[in-house]
Amino acid sequence: MAEVTLFSRAKEIIPGGVSSPVRAFGSVGGDPVFIREARGAHVVDVTGRDFVDLVCSWGPALLGHAHPEVVEAVRAAAGRGLSFGAPTLAEVELAEAIRARVPAAEQVRFVSTGTEATMTAIRLARGATGRDAIVKFAGCYHGHSDALLAAAGSGVATQGLPGSAGVTAAAAGDTIVVEYNDLDALTRVFDEAGDRIAAVITEAAPANMGVVPPAPGFNAALRELTARHGALLIVDEVLTGFRVGPGGWLGLEGGYQPDIVTFGKVVGGGMPLAALAGRAEVMQLLAPVGPVYQAGTLSGNPLATAAGFATLRLADDAVYAHVDRRSVELQAAVAEALGAASVPHTIQAAGNLFSVFFREGAVANYEDAKDQDTEAFARFFHALLDDGVALPPSAFEAWFLSAAHDDEAMGRITDALPRAARAAAH
Ligand code: PLP
Repeated sequence: MAEVTLFSRAKEIIPGGVSSPVRAFGSVGGDPVFIREARGAHVVDVTGRDFVDLVCSWGPALLGHAHPEVVEAVRAAAGRGLSFGAPTLAEVELAEAIRARVPAAEQVRFVSTGTEATMTAIRLARGATGRDAIVKFAGCYHGHSDALLAAAGSGVATQGLPGSAGVTAAAAGDTIVVEYNDLDALTRVFDEAGDRIAAVITEAAPANMGVVPPAPGFNAALRELTARHGALLIVDEVLTGFRVGPGGWLGLEGGYQPDIVTFGKVVGGGMPLAALAGRAEVMQLLAPVGPVYQAGTLSGNPLATAAGFATLRLADDAVYAHVDRRSVELQAAVAEALGAASVPHTIQAAGNLFSVFFREGAVANYEDAKDQDTEAFARFFHALLDDGVALPPSAFEAWFLSAAHDDEAMGRITDALPRAARAAAH
């Protein structure tokens, strides 16, 4: 029972015992697993129990955990110094590697978290347009800055309400929240308030309410609508970038160019690194060249850029082909197990990202996503955990695979699925 003890000890000193809320298992119940180490497709807890990992650090571990070449790159960088607070060759190389994969990323600014990337993107859009309002979609998550924690009120398009205690009504009030995939609602918002809107921010393919891909043409329509009204389009690829393919979701979908794109997770290879990028003309508004201020003591940290560069270098076509194939296999295995146990479910994918909704019928937006049996998910989750498979501890998260998910790892998951499906059934 070392974990119970450790969780109690953690809760004494850290609110909820965790450094980020979802880790506390709040929506599935029970005590979180404390991880001691991770390698390949596996994580090992403090008691030595091994789990096949479908969290992958919530995305970054595209190559699997502790890939030897990434670890070696970090080790070598650490040997040269942990942080300089000065420009480096490594950040120039990583920025060039990003631009080579994502043409919309004409210039790149490094920050440490996805939250910083989107927060800065919003400031930049406001600076570029001289307008205050932003539009976000219900169910899309862009980190925890005040403006982006605005919650939807009732109705398809509402002035944002504070999405957390401590967010002022004023901060949330400049955010307009629209139902995802609802172009008519967005068009009405622009008809009414188009000259106040600095930007629309959207997840490239939403994966924080479960995976809800954009309807065909939706992102391109956002591009057209924002351009027509002089607003910017911010595409948040923090989760999808370099994960669903070398060019992220933009590379898969094609046909439109955002003004600003944000990256995180895979781009840092498991280290705290994120970036905003975009049209040079817009990016040139950032300090020190332009009037929009942004800075960071640890921005472009040499260990983080080393991990990110090694990860992008190793993430070749074979890696994406492998992850894509494993994703298709796993979706089929989950569908078979849940089907055999007569558990209502819908599986949705965006590239190799997918999630399982415990309901019948397609999920187009957050209202649909919330309408599912989260208790069935909790039973499914715990049965898998008992059998050594670690799913994200929430029904509203994507499942993450990696290049290290081999036959052995997949076999352990598929062996565990039938019992978990039966647990979900009652
Ligand atoms: N944007 C998206 C799409 C995300 O999924 C996340 C985190 O999950 C963020 C932004 C925030 O990134 P971070 O947790 O690094 O602040």
